[in-house]
Amino acid sequence: MKFVDFCYQKSGVNNWGDVFDNPQPITLEAFTTGTVQINRRGTINPLHPRAAEVEAEELEVPILCYWIHHENRGDYLLDAGLDATYFQDPRGGLEGTDVDQFHQEKDQNIVHHLETRGIYLQGVFLSHLHADHAAGQRELPKNIPYVVGKGEFEDYHPQVHGDFLQGVEVLHEIDFFGADEIPPLGPSVDLLGDGSLWAVLTPGHTRGHSSFLVNGYAGPVFLTMDAVFIRENLDVGVAPSDYTWEVEPAQKTLEKIINFLEMYPQVRVRAGHEL
Ligand SMILES: [Zn+2]
Repeated sequence: MKFVDFCYQKSGVNNWGDVFDNPQPITLEAFTTGTVQINRRGTINPLHPRAAEVEAEELEVPILCYWIHHENRGDYLLDAGLDATYFQDPRGGLEGTDVDQFHQEKDQNIVHHLETRGIYLQGVFLSHLHADHAAGQRELPKNIPYVVGKGEFEDYHPQVHGDFLQGVEVLHEIDFFGADEIPPLGPSVDLLGDGSLWAVLTPGHTRGHSSFLVNGYAGPVFLTMDAVFIRENLDVGVAPSDYTWEVEPAQKTLEKIINFLEMYPQVRVRAGHEL
């Protein structure tokens, strides 16, 4: 596989208010491609003082990705969800003890969602490369750009995370170093060049994890992806610790998101594993 830097131009914007004053013809819809069992303890870091009361409880949560439709630029995916392999096999064809297991109903796979709606993809932006966000790539077209934050691939272990990038010849990496610093979120990249869709560096869950901001006419929507698993992370103010690269930056990132949502109450937020 070849690696190239994702090409973008700095927008010169230094506050989100200016972005939200210029909404664009972009919409989003969530696709559920399966479910996964997580535990509330761990989804909310139990070692954090504010989480002392959090009780162990299994939760079955959706595995989500987002269809982005831009009137002039076409259709994109944010994350790839799961491919159809998981309907027959909770491990998606992977072997080994560390492999995550997921549940999938018939016709929940990503390509089924795309075909039902007649969606022709222009590209895929990945928040990170964990199985529940990247496995769907196996059944998606290969002749479109796949884009992920720099550093993600270094932590990608095919024996655990699967062969999800097989067939992708070029991986486009977003280098957030030198991107617009828009407080309080920090490094943010205007992905389509018109202020409609932004990748925001939200490290912690993984090293180069991205969240996304969709700036449509219906009002801005912040998609945390795995920086926040469920809304309760935001309510309690405690980041996840399960499946997490490093807890400390994950907590910092969560606090930055909470701060952002307080500064811009017009922003609707969607957690990574909650509809
Ligand atoms: Zn993840």
